[in-house]
Amino acid sequence: MSKPEITFFWFRRDLRLEDNIGLFHALQSQFPVIPLFIFDEAILDSLPKNDARVGFIHDSLSKINVKLQAFGSFLLVKKGKTHEVWQQLIQEFDIKEVFFNKDYEAYAIKRDWAICELLTSNKINSFSFKDQVIFEEKEITKSDGLSYTIYTPYKNKWLEKYNSMAPVQEYDASDKFSNFHKNNFVFPTLEQIGFEQSTIKVIPHNLKNVTNYHETRDFPALDATSHLSPHLRFGTVSIRKLVNWAAKKNDVFLSELIWREFFMQILFSFPKVVSHNFKSSYDGIQWRNDEEDFKHWCSGTTGYPMVDAGMRELNETGYMHNRVRMVVASFLCKHLLINWQWGEAYFAQKLLDFELSSNVGNWQWAAGTGCDAAPYFRVFNPEIQLKKFDEKGIYIRKWIPEFDLGYCKPMVEHAFARDRAIATYKAGILK
Ligand code: FAD
Repeated sequence: MSKPEITFFWFRRDLRLEDNIGLFHALQSQFPVIPLFIFDEAILDSLPKNDARVGFIHDSLSKINVKLQAFGSFLLVKKGKTHEVWQQLIQEFDIKEVFFNKDYEAYAIKRDWAICELLTSNKINSFSFKDQVIFEEKEITKSDGLSYTIYTPYKNKWLEKYNSMAPVQEYDASDKFSNFHKNNFVFPTLEQIGFEQSTIKVIPHNLKNVTNYHETRDFPALDATSHLSPHLRFGTVSIRKLVNWAAKKNDVFLSELIWREFFMQILFSFPKVVSHNFKSSYDGIQWRNDEEDFKHWCSGTTGYPMVDAGMRELNETGYMHNRVRMVVASFLCKHLLINWQWGEAYFAQKLLDFELSSNVGNWQWAAGTGCDAAPYFRVFNPEIQLKKFDEKGIYIRKWIPEFDLGYCKPMVEHAFARDRAIATYKAGILK
């Protein structure tokens, strides 16, 4: 029996049917389209069995699967090494075309390059699209073609380009959904993939918060930010729809979405930032890297309520408010003189919205080692941050129930830690 001629759409970090550009183009195909997701063992093998992000991916795929059923189709879900999965699929189907959206992290670029080679050697056409950003790779550069390393001029150029084409085109393919392949693929449970439900869940995003964003975003007790980050990370929300909407709503909010793209283009243009200081002149800093201190920071027992509340929020929910992320990151690097990479790795394990580019970019910003970073001599005072941004102590009491029962003393005195940080940085920065 001849194998069916098929087009594949490969979902990765774009887990939605709406305004998905790669899917839009796939569905124009003359062949029926199989929607595919691969749980990549190269990524999954290092995660705990109850990783909440895997649960969220599974949940998002399940929602897509339910929508597909109305068109007699099911998602094809595989687990394995990506290259091997594609080799099997090539045996099983007469694949004519494969469509997917681009991913800009080094691991993904290498993986996709290898898959495209495999497809080409089997005479299969592959097509990739820009979907997770408005402007990718080298689309926003200085006039000499070099990448921006300072945010404000990057943002100005980004806005100029966006405004010249606004609103950006959205891609509604709903009139082509009948082109999904009719099948009876069985959708696996989370347990069949080797994972279990976590008690931590991604919460729905909230766009109502954005109206007064510029006034409320810095106050963690108000919880007045959008909670979009995991949705942008896994593509359950379209960045095109979001930016077209945000551009008319709130400039400050829009500028945060531009920070996201700024760090993405930094990671793309300077992939070394994942494991090296962007500013190599900072390589000589003598970090203390004290493991006991690090444990106090991780568990939220430093004696600084804003730091401790933030770390406890992170440990319990997989989320931390941005203002508090800045405070805890600065505290780790400057007060404790622990290398930003330790903090970055801890956040990567815990954050539901872990995004390599934003995490590395913001950690290096806090440590002072990154592009357009906080100057090394600016050392946040966690007590002043608390007074400014949680004056009534509502946020800290939410996460530190024992706060009013006589809270533990700070593990290091601020003025001492500040002087030590400045002296250590000064001595370590290469002239
Ligand atoms: P909102 O304030 O509603 O912002 C809307 C969106 O703008 C966010 O969802 C995010 O996509 C983007 N954004 C906002 N602030 C930033 C920023 N500083 N840098 C880049 N994008 C931003 N964000 C991540 O998505 N993943 C990370 O791994 C991550 N790690 C961080 C580590 C540190 C040390 C710090 C200081 C910040 C980090 N951020 C990270 C940025 C920011 O804290 C989160 O994006 C934000 O708190 C998410 O909540 P929200 O969606 O309610 O944000």
